[in-house]
Amino acid sequence: MKPSPPRPKPDPKAPRQPLPLLDPALRHTPAEVALGFTGEQAKIEALRCLQCQKPTCIDACPLNIDIKRFILRMVDGDYAGAHEVISEQSPFPGVCGRVCQHELFCEEACIVGRRWDPVAIGALERFAADHARLRMQELVKGEPRKPTGPKVALVGSGPASLIAAYDLVRLNYRVTIFEALHRLGGVLAYGIPNFRLPREILHEEIARLQNLGVEFVTSFIVGKSATIEELFEEGYEAVFLGTGAGLPYLMEIPGENLAGVYTANEFLTRLNLMEAYRFPERPTPVHVGKRTVVVGGGNSAMDAARWARRLGSETTILYRRGRAELKARIEEIKHAEEEGVRFEFLAAPVALYGDPHGFVTAMECIRMELGEPDESGRRSPAPIPGSEYRIPAETVVAAIGQAPNPTLQRVTPQLHTRRGKIVIDEAGRTSMNLVFAGGDVVRGGSTVILAMKDGRAAAAAIHRALSPNGGNHDQPDH
Ligand SMILES: Cc1cc2nc3c(=O)[nH]c(=O)nc-3n(C[C@H](O)[C@H](O)[C@H](O)COP(=O)(O)OP(=O)(O)OC[C@H]3O[C@@H](n4cnc5c(N)ncnc54)[C@H](O)[C@@H]3O)c2cc1C
Repeated sequence: MKPSPPRPKPDPKAPRQPLPLLDPALRHTPAEVALGFTGEQAKIEALRCLQCQKPTCIDACPLNIDIKRFILRMVDGDYAGAHEVISEQSPFPGVCGRVCQHELFCEEACIVGRRWDPVAIGALERFAADHARLRMQELVKGEPRKPTGPKVALVGSGPASLIAAYDLVRLNYRVTIFEALHRLGGVLAYGIPNFRLPREILHEEIARLQNLGVEFVTSFIVGKSATIEELFEEGYEAVFLGTGAGLPYLMEIPGENLAGVYTANEFLTRLNLMEAYRFPERPTPVHVGKRTVVVGGGNSAMDAARWARRLGSETTILYRRGRAELKARIEEIKHAEEEGVRFEFLAAPVALYGDPHGFVTAMECIRMELGEPDESGRRSPAPIPGSEYRIPAETVVAAIGQAPNPTLQRVTPQLHTRRGKIVIDEAGRTSMNLVFAGGDVVRGGSTVILAMKDGRAAAAAIHRALSPNGGNHDQPDH
């Protein structure tokens, strides 16, 4: 056998590779904006990793992905191997490579980042996932596995439930995910637009779970189609609640009921899930006027504003705090700006005005100033008396946060909640025996990776509860 050539030395001083992007002038469709590294860029970026003795990035990743090892595979040009390393911990390299807030976790902890720009771990993850797509498509063509262990019901098909399913099915549990909507993925499907997360990536990674033996039941609302008790009667031995935070907060200002005023939840669901941008070819419309004002500063606000721009509307994001306090991913803010979204900081809506037909025409705003930090650690905004002003708006989108949907909690009073969120203990257990919960329904609006962390913790707790001796169940039939 020929000896393999020596591995090149790490080169952290090489400039961090920029992600190639779709030209802003072409961003008038839902086509993906971030195009992914070229092979050459992936090599340079992988070599920037120092392969640290104590890889702080791994501890900082809520899923403890072995980042050091997957990057080393990439240095060797073994992209399939890199994908396999990531897949040991995560069923979603393609999804997380695109939407995870790496700058808050692994990249924040990257040692290279102390002197230079941190290694672009997210973009490398995405490269490995994209490279593995063909192989994955082949893999899922085979017969799905047939697990034979105890039955577990997971409610909601967002990232919290999906990773719980991944972990449980690999331990041979018979896992069924019940989803209220007709599509799978939770916010990944209805909230995050295709221009950030192409649907085929999501569908392919979910198809892999199906191939591992996870069953999916859509258009099934637990709390309406069946209660939790009825799931137990059906033979499920544990239940995980990953029902997310799908109830949008309202602005609670006069004029909020005018036509043309949406919550981000409704606006994005129409566009992402119902493909309203294809109306009348698709049955669901969305009304977007000449000028759109999106209220808020998180990912939902950026997504709604970027959609409004794609539909040809002059778009302003109105945010009551300053630029430094924006909660959206830095990349999304940059892309929104490139696409012509205007930002108006330190301003809040006071009232909406409409025409005689009931359509919104203008928003009254008030200037704000920042005071002392609030409980979130961010400086709290306060209105400046007498600073009211009006701006024209034919479309208004309120993207000011979301609370857990109360449907299930309402019919399940034995489930303890605090301010609408399901209360769990450190093992993910709710107040009901063998009922676990995690993700946004516990945290309120959070992030994909923290929802996944919770789903993983709950899967481990379910396994402990159903297999007290900690053993795997019999191996699945293939
Ligand atoms: C527009 C938007 C953009 C975002 N962008 C990012 C981003 O770029 N990066 C990031 O890290 N985070 C982002 N987030 C946050 C992230 O998406 C969420 O934190 C994450 O999806 C929460 O996962 P989850 O599994 O807890 O719930 P969800 O993803 O909300 O999924 C819950 C699912 O449960 C279903 N469900 C609810 N009740 C029932 C019931 N009774 N029966 C059956 N099914 C039910 C819902 O229909 C839904 O499909 C974004 C959020 C939004 C709204």
